[in-house]
Amino acid sequence: MKLIELSGVSLTYPNAVEPALHDLSLDVKEGATLSILGPSGCGKTTVLRAIAGFEHPQAGEIRIAGRLVCDGKQCVPPEERGVGMVFQDYALFPHLTVTQNIAFGLRRLAPRAAADAVTHILDLVGLAGFEDRYPHELSGGQQQRVAIARALAPKPVVLLLDEPFSNLDPDMRGQMREEVQEILRRTGITAVLVTHDHDEAFAMADRIAVLNRGRLEQVDDPESIYHTPSTPFVANFVGQADFLPGRVENGKIHTEAGVFENVTGHPHGTAVEIMIRPDDVHITPASPGTAQIAGRQFRGSENLYTVLLPSGQYLHSSEASTTVYPIGTSVELTVAATHIVTFVKRR
Ligand code: ADP
Repeated sequence: MKLIELSGVSLTYPNAVEPALHDLSLDVKEGATLSILGPSGCGKTTVLRAIAGFEHPQAGEIRIAGRLVCDGKQCVPPEERGVGMVFQDYALFPHLTVTQNIAFGLRRLAPRAAADAVTHILDLVGLAGFEDRYPHELSGGQQQRVAIARALAPKPVVLLLDEPFSNLDPDMRGQMREEVQEILRRTGITAVLVTHDHDEAFAMADRIAVLNRGRLEQVDDPESIYHTPSTPFVANFVGQADFLPGRVENGKIHTEAGVFENVTGHPHGTAVEIMIRPDDVHITPASPGTAQIAGRQFRGSENLYTVLLPSGQYLHSSEASTTVYPIGTSVELTVAATHIVTFVKRR
């Protein structure tokens, strides 16, 4: 079942030249996590705020659990939508304890039921024993868990998370991703997570929607977004990508770095660009070779080489962390693209 559905949603802020969201259609299945991914300013937060009811699109429809909550004219207020929201800065009340922060959204319950709900949710997020602490007495990761507990306590149908890991130290992020993923799995809640970090989207989401200047570029599972991006923008945004020029001749794509299958069936003579990821390219020193090493970035788990082809085209190659060749080494290339992605050449 589709728990969240956006169809043809457009939103322009007052005095803005361009729409922040342009004819956006998306859905999220019950129990799934959708990540909204894109660069700063592309409209990610606006989508989240429109689902929550804090922004009112001028056109299109939004449905939550089958109920129309916004149709461009009328909007159901946020508190009646059954959504829980975790803000980037957590927005905890500094003068309230952990228990009081979480109980804030449970004022409609009888005191006993609210206390039981707080105990249950604190167990779920691993914060039993922290009931009487104030936010400033907690680590960043613990504050985030309180924010999630507070959002989940009223049993929303959807959890919305806006860049939830951006305020954490890099070494805490990996751990918190796993913890939040486990919380989402245990509650089975439908979630929408906004991020500009593709690794975060890959790690957390069942599906990823990539936005570019308010428009949806692609929505797909993480593997398809990485291996078979549908636009050059997506290809570039979710990882290192090179675009190697080629031409379709006799049913194959001929390029400077080899011949590839014409999997999408471009007509004979078409000028294309084939997307090459660094993990598709392997280099071995050879004398004389067909290319030359122009640069190396040591990245801990790999060495990322920049390789110069005779035409002046650059390709990148990912080699083992211990494989070190000097700059200027002449090399032979092996390009084994497991997923052949081509775009008709841009002019
Ligand atoms: P993201 O979350 O991807 O960084 P936003 O959704 O915050 O992007 O913003 C999308 C666009 O809308 C940006 O150009 C931003 O400057 C603009 N914008 C966001 N909020 C407002 C607002 N309240 N008023 C006017 N323009 C806004």
